[in-house]
This record gives sequence, structure tokens and C-alpha cells, in this order.
Amino acid sequence: MRPGLWRHLLQCLVIQLLVLPVPVGAASMQARESHGPPWDGAVASSKVVKIGASTLQIDFGPGEFDLKQDEIVHWVETAGQAVAAYFGKFPVPRARVLILPIAGKQGVLTGTTWGGVGGYPAFTRMRLGQHSTTDDLKDDWTMTHEFVHIGFPSLSENHHWLEEGLATYIEPVARVQIGTLTTKQIWGDMHRDMRKGEPGSTDKGLDQTHTWASTYWGGALFCMMADIKIRQETKNGKGLQDAMRAVVAAGGTIDEDWPIEKAFAIGDKATGTTVLSALYHSMGENSQTVDLDPLWKELGVEVVNGVVVLDDKAPLANIREGITSPRQPSDKLIPGAGRKAF
Ligand SMILES: [Zn+2]
Repeated sequence: MRPGLWRHLLQCLVIQLLVLPVPVGAASMQARESHGPPWDGAVASSKVVKIGASTLQIDFGPGEFDLKQDEIVHWVETAGQAVAAYFGKFPVPRARVLILPIAGKQGVLTGTTWGGVGGYPAFTRMRLGQHSTTDDLKDDWTMTHEFVHIGFPSLSENHHWLEEGLATYIEPVARVQIGTLTTKQIWGDMHRDMRKGEPGSTDKGLDQTHTWASTYWGGALFCMMADIKIRQETKNGKGLQDAMRAVVAAGGTIDEDWPIEKAFAIGDKATGTTVLSALYHSMGENSQTVDLDPLWKELGVEVVNGVVVLDDKAPLANIREGITSPRQPSDKLIPGAGRKAF
């Protein structure tokens, strides 16, 4: 068993217990089902889909769904395409997803991803309520969040904030890039939630603050600031996405254990900046705050009476747009290729 494997399980449960609308009973269900490793659980049926050159094995545990199996496969496949759009390709050549039907429940209950288990570089288990609907899957972010984890190496425990921060920040960006989330939705959500990641007055940096808010939203705030700063220093030519693609190209996927400095060095080299290493010093090793209100103004993000207004004339509006603009696949630049190029 890889070090940190159960840690990741715990953290993913934590975010879903606190954020997802239908998490009640998830922990107790887990206790009842834990008879051996999750990847050894019974499989009733399977479907294999391709995401570009990668193979996704989708297995279904025993039980019933109101939804058709094809609808569930489509949900998994769409999440895979979002992550492939962000990283330029699906991060590993083979991955397996086990969908467990949870009797009497509705909604996407929990998701957990492991690296290098059961013969696959990545294995994701999703608990899905028996009475889940098409809308539950359409609104879901969990499946994409889990797949983002595949595209980054496993870090030591004190850097867990970066693994969860990347998944929290990249998941909606990837979904906007394939057109399943709107720019107003992502910026409205970030405007509402990013402040949860601000350090408290006694915090000593993300490496030493292991609360839920710091791990998920502190990590996401780090990622957003990195994306903005890289774009400011490169005239909007590069972003966090370039750094992440370079990490995956260097073999940095969930089944590999890396020191955090290696990931930042590769990311910085790819963007021709020192943004990641410098920001790690100020937000990871120290607790620098971010003045969010003026930043939203500069980005042109405003929420008026609950309605998100995006100002295209704001000083950093081009950076805001650059963050969510669809990009080309990694290996080949295809002139005119659109968001559904793979
Ligand atoms: Zn996670």
C-alpha cells in the first residue's frame, strides 16, 4: 500500500461531507462496505471507453440504478474529457473507475482516487445513489475532481493542501474548457468560496495548517494566484495549465511520489518564471494573505444582488478569460481545432 493512501481517502470524504448536498451516511456506509481493498470489490458489469489514447475501464458494482448504464458511462466519460482537455491528454494510459450503487440514496455521494493499486496506475471509486437523476450527474463536480488528482504526483502529508487545492481549482476550469460549466458560474463560485482559503491570524502557512478550509480552499487560492501571476509575467502567454502539463509530461502522476520542490521546479521551467517556487515560499511556508476584493475588481468579477457580472474592460479581464479558454491537446497543435478535438 502506498504511503498516504488512506489519508487521501479521508480527505476526499471530508470535502464531500462538508460541501456536497447529499453526503449523509457516507462514513457509515464506508464502514459497512470495508471488507478488503476497494479495488477487489465485486463487479456486476463493465464498459471500456477511450479518452484519446487512454483506456478507461468503468466497472459497476452489484445493485440497481434508476439511470440507464449508458448515462452513467457518459458522465464518467465527460469528466475524463474535461481532464484531458486541461492536461492536453488523459494523464495516465489506463485508469479504472468502480461505480458502487448505494441503495435508497440519491446523488453522487463520495469519490476517492488511489494511485498504483489493483494493476492500474489510477483507480477511482464513486459511490452513486440508486435514485440519482440525470440532473445529479449534470451538476456533479466530484467525478472531474477525482480525475484531476490523477494528473499530479503524490506528495508528503504536509503538502496535501496542494493536491486538494489543484483538484478544487482545476475541476471547474476544465469543465468550462469543454463547455459543461459557464464562465459566470465558475467566477461566481470562486468569488463566493475563495475567501474560505485566507489564512487566519495565527496560521503559519499552508504546510502547517491542516484544516479543511486551508487544505481545499487555501490550496485553491494558491493555485488561482499562481495562475494569475504566471499570466501577468508572461503577457498571458502561459498559465498554471502549462505547468501542470509539464509535470504530467515528466511522469508526475498519482502513482508517483515526488517532493513538492520537484513539481514546482518543473512547473516554473515550463512557464519560464519562478512563480510557483516564490508563491510556495510566501503562502506554503509562510502565511501571506491575499487582498481578494481589489483582485476581483481587477479581474472584472462582481456579484450584484446574487447575479454575477463580468466586466470585459477590467484591467485583468484578458487574464480572467485566458484562464478558462480552451487549449490545444499537448502533443500536437492542430490549426483550428476546437474544444472537442479529442
Ligand atoms: Zn480530492
